[in-house]
Amino acid sequence: MRVQCKIEEVSLEGDGDYDVDGVCVTCSKCGASEEAFGTSPGSVKRCFVLLRESCGEENFYCLSPEDTRDYL
Ligand SMILES: [Zn+2]
Repeated sequence: MRVQCKIEEVSLEGDGDYDVDGVCVTCSKCGASEEAFGTSPGSVKRCFVLLRESCGEENFYCLSPEDTRDYL
């Protein structure tokens, strides 16, 4: 099924002592969330792939139209 996810920009711990910008994508169906470094379309898609495993379902993930415009 198609699941619209919520996206947030977050600070993630990088390899060094500094934080790295990232995104956190939350499944609106079960509440699972996944994070990835960066805020590019590739980062968002990475979260979708991870979410598919976290949810344990073959969902098709998407963002709201507004977030799609900003991130994908
Ligand atoms: Zn889910």
